[in-house]
Amino acid sequence: MSSQPGLVAVITGGASGIGQGLAEEAARRGMRLVLADLDGPGLERVRVALRTMGAEVVTKVTDVGQLPQVEDLRKFAVEHFGSVDLLFNNAGVMQTGYSWEISKAQWQRMIDVNLNGVIHGIRCFVPLLLRQGRGGHVINTASLAGLLSSPLLAPYNVTKQAVVALSETLHYELGLLGAPIAVSVICPGPVASAIMRSNQHSDAAGDDLSQLLDGRIRTGMSPTELAKLVFEAIDAKHFWILPHKTFKGALERRVRSILEETNPQFRMPEVQGEEHAPQ
Ligand code: NAD
Repeated sequence: MSSQPGLVAVITGGASGIGQGLAEEAARRGMRLVLADLDGPGLERVRVALRTMGAEVVTKVTDVGQLPQVEDLRKFAVEHFGSVDLLFNNAGVMQTGYSWEISKAQWQRMIDVNLNGVIHGIRCFVPLLLRQGRGGHVINTASLAGLLSSPLLAPYNVTKQAVVALSETLHYELGLLGAPIAVSVICPGPVASAIMRSNQHSDAAGDDLSQLLDGRIRTGMSPTELAKLVFEAIDAKHFWILPHKTFKGALERRVRSILEETNPQFRMPEVQGEEHAPQ
């Protein structure tokens, strides 16, 4: 399914950053929108901005980590628009620090939002897309961290790599059924957003990394530019959406290290001379 006017897109984490960028691009393409986020005032701000663009948009405060709330989101979307065509599982949070110093509650929050949020989205919406019997598209926001592990980002690496695995599995499963539902996974490097505000780092190492990431994210790709690339990829039915090309060297080194059974060596992905440094 390509991004035609009139289609209904559900976007989680729609009140800020990448989700807001996706919502604006969807609105420019004439889609009808259901935006979900924990942040009610943020949702209202985005709703008003999209309304001035002439978009049909409804919002629902939702914690994607809570299955009943995601079920309510599906009911809400169907009540308003009768159907759903595109699902963006995009809400996410950040956590830095040494793996063993991150608390149980911090690990749990990352798993609940970054992984369970996507699982809940798939469990609640894919049966609806299948029942509708026409095209659909599930787009999961993972990260560069979904393909490459960096130190001091354990829960982020773990949850994002799980989202990549889940996306690939879903793609194969829908293919087995011959269902006309496409799947894409977005693996961006730094994108200018508010994500570092969600970081609950509590040690010096986490603090240092947090400052480094903060700088990279502040000067990262704009959500508007990212959203354009994402919708082009949706139209082309691409599974992999890798907006930052510079990290492919690091990915190649990782795969080579696996195939040659050599120990992994961490190197910051190349940033020099690149407009958008990979995260
Ligand atoms: P952001 O903080 O600007 O937006 C994330 C949104 O998700 C916020 O509005 C927040 O309120 C919402 N959210 C957080 N927890 C939620 C929950 N439990 N339920 C519903 N909504 C919740 O950050 P962003 O960078 O736009 O993040 C969007 C996605 O992009 C995340 O999955 C993130 O991991 C991913 N990502 C970001 C970058 C980057 O550099 N910004 C890079 C790669 C991947």
